[in-house]
Amino acid sequence: MNLINDPWIPVIHADGQRGKIAPWQLTDTGNSVVELAAPRPDFQGALYQFLIGLLQTSFASEDEDEWLKYWQAPPSTEQLKEVLAPFSGAFEFFNPQGLAFLQDFTVLDDEPKELAALLIDAPGGKTLKDHLDHFVKGGTLAGACASCTASALFTLQTNAPSGGVGHRVGLRGGGPLTSLLLPESAHASLWQKLWLNVLTEEELAPKAHTPSGDIFPWMAATRVSDKTGGATLPDDVHPLQMYWGMPRRIRLEPTQGAGVCDLCGDACTELFSHFRTKNYGVNYEGPWVHPLTPYRFDPKNEQPPLSLKGQQGGLGYRHWLGLMWADPSNGDAAALSIKHFYDSKLRVLDSCDAVKLWSFGYDMDNMKARCWYEQTMPVIAIGEEYRELFFKLVSDLLNSARDVIKELRSQVKSGWFSRPKDVKGDTSMIDQSFWQATEPVFYQQLKILAEQPSNTRTMPASVAATWRKLMFNQALTLFDYWVLEGDAEDMDMKRITSARRFLLINLGKLKSLQHLEQLAATTEEVA
Ligand SMILES: [Zn+2]
Repeated sequence: MNLINDPWIPVIHADGQRGKIAPWQLTDTGNSVVELAAPRPDFQGALYQFLIGLLQTSFASEDEDEWLKYWQAPPSTEQLKEVLAPFSGAFEFFNPQGLAFLQDFTVLDDEPKELAALLIDAPGGKTLKDHLDHFVKGGTLAGACASCTASALFTLQTNAPSGGVGHRVGLRGGGPLTSLLLPESAHASLWQKLWLNVLTEEELAPKAHTPSGDIFPWMAATRVSDKTGGATLPDDVHPLQMYWGMPRRIRLEPTQGAGVCDLCGDACTELFSHFRTKNYGVNYEGPWVHPLTPYRFDPKNEQPPLSLKGQQGGLGYRHWLGLMWADPSNGDAAALSIKHFYDSKLRVLDSCDAVKLWSFGYDMDNMKARCWYEQTMPVIAIGEEYRELFFKLVSDLLNSARDVIKELRSQVKSGWFSRPKDVKGDTSMIDQSFWQATEPVFYQQLKILAEQPSNTRTMPASVAATWRKLMFNQALTLFDYWVLEGDAEDMDMKRITSARRFLLINLGKLKSLQHLEQLAATTEEVA
């Protein structure tokens, strides 16, 4: 199978029909392609990135005008076929003695492993014991079709967690979060969903016209990271390698003949069941910044940026600012593709082309996949003039919520225990309850803030008043919920009443809430 020439990508067409296409058939006009249809959510995210990477590498626009041209009218299948043809040599999927997609340059002679180990949630010994296997139930992956095996290989190389001694993590660290932009329109084509995430040559790097080992690491001897080798830094290879990172040395074993794929359920002529792997492959280190991933930047610039990860408790509105723009409270910054969307695409897009952000990734506990998270959030189109202030106002709302949560958590513990400072334990459910309870009002206020005229200079009084009231009310409601729901026998009402009083007093002293109070009052007087 050749991943450029042959149909292997599972898709849904406009009439609801499912099928498989080759990448160049993306823009087929007969029965247009509207969505990918991978059998697992991690494969869905990976296939999006495979196609975005392919377009970025071979078809990036010179500038935003050319980008807009292809947004409005996609290239024909003939044009795509012609552009992709020179790359097909690098995309042979199974080629035991020669170059093979995302597989080591050399033939590996280590013991073959079962294909299940290619899956990030592959139940290792401990995972099985804890019944934490998510998508694969222990021991049921006997074989997979070429399409699913290719998706699994790309998913692993893209998200690789540490896999034991010398089995390297992905270019963005283990289990990175990926942020993709999607059109809100239900009628958007798959082409538009992908093209929104492709940067111009000006924004990233000139496209390639022929494949090379600098971009596709499997086309050259592996930059090993054992004692004879070293780390691979951004300056060592082509920037487009970010889309094609290959931290693991892998070679697929010959297939076992025909059968039914355990991942998608399709009957196929060739089932893959084993692969070989070797440690000390490419070790990506240093200041890599993958364009499709948000990062946390060190304010002192001493540590390299760290990719944001899927996390316990999932993604909520507290992450909105960091995923969408930049959150000064923690150094989180949106993926480069989102930045460039605000800086250039927003300027050329039609105002009715509403866009949302789709974030997804594994929550990894070192080598073990705890959970898969994904979430969509609204992208708010804000003109350049008001943009900085708009995000500053959102940041003010978030910071006051963070301050209130700190007080709430501390006083709930004072209500629970006579010596709260000595008590250790997980209290994240208190934070979580506050974030959840305040989320709907946050998005309402966000909408009001977004509708302000571009000459706005300060937070509208109504937003400040609504938010301040919400902070007080929810803090008290949740204090009562967490403290009074406790075991009645242990309740010391005097201690509880005192903690509740201190909660009110301390909230009154919070600078962020006082600031909201001033905004609510002064502007009202003027009005
Ligand atoms: Zn399959």
